[in-house]
Amino acid sequence: MALQDILDRLRAAERVAGRAEGSVRLIAVSKVQPPERVVAVLEQGHRIFGENYVQEAAGKWPVWRDRFGPVNLHMIGPLQTNKAKLALDLFDAIHTLDRPSLAQKLASLGQARGALPQLFVQVNTGEEPQKAGVLPAELTGFLRDCRAMDLLPFGLMCIPPEDKDPTPHFALLAGMAADHGLSGLSMGMSSDFETAVAHGATHIRVGSAIFGARAYP
Ligand SMILES: *Cc1c(COP(=O)(O)O)cnc(C)c1O
Repeated sequence: MALQDILDRLRAAERVAGRAEGSVRLIAVSKVQPPERVVAVLEQGHRIFGENYVQEAAGKWPVWRDRFGPVNLHMIGPLQTNKAKLALDLFDAIHTLDRPSLAQKLASLGQARGALPQLFVQVNTGEEPQKAGVLPAELTGFLRDCRAMDLLPFGLMCIPPEDKDPTPHFALLAGMAADHGLSGLSMGMSSDFETAVAHGATHIRVGSAIFGARAYP
């Protein structure tokens, strides 16, 4: 199990960046991992996890929460509007607020419940046509619309283009968060989390470096 290695590397990256020890949250991304690998990480005491699919998470986490106690669960995959209600029952944070229809849905569900998970707006920093996220040029308007619905996002999230240097994308996201007075920055994965920490990440999302390669069914 590589959890301790990743925690050690994270603490070192915090030190190098002059950040307070423990200031960056390590989200262990457990999507499609064999249950025994996830249980092993729970048994080591880790309590922050990320999932991409609402249905899959709903099938796994209620049982593990009964067994291990409170677990901080983060939704990091695309969220369909018709799964939003189920997602609110499961997740403490949603990193993929990426369009007005989802904002509307979350706002109305939040009104009925009186509370919502922590919200991150996903920004398509690479402006890739196949990728979800608000375009950088549309972020100001989108945040204005969110606030008009009483949705107060906590931060921004990005997934840089594959096989490219992520540095400019992390810098862009950090700049946009600062411009808008948002304190959360969800960025950095197995291959680049140290760079993300250097650029101010508050939440890193690490899957395969902790659990091993994913085997998609
Ligand atoms: C799967 C996934 C991760 C984890 O990726 P690794 O490369 O395995 O660390 C992080 N973020 C998102 C949005 C993902 O879908």
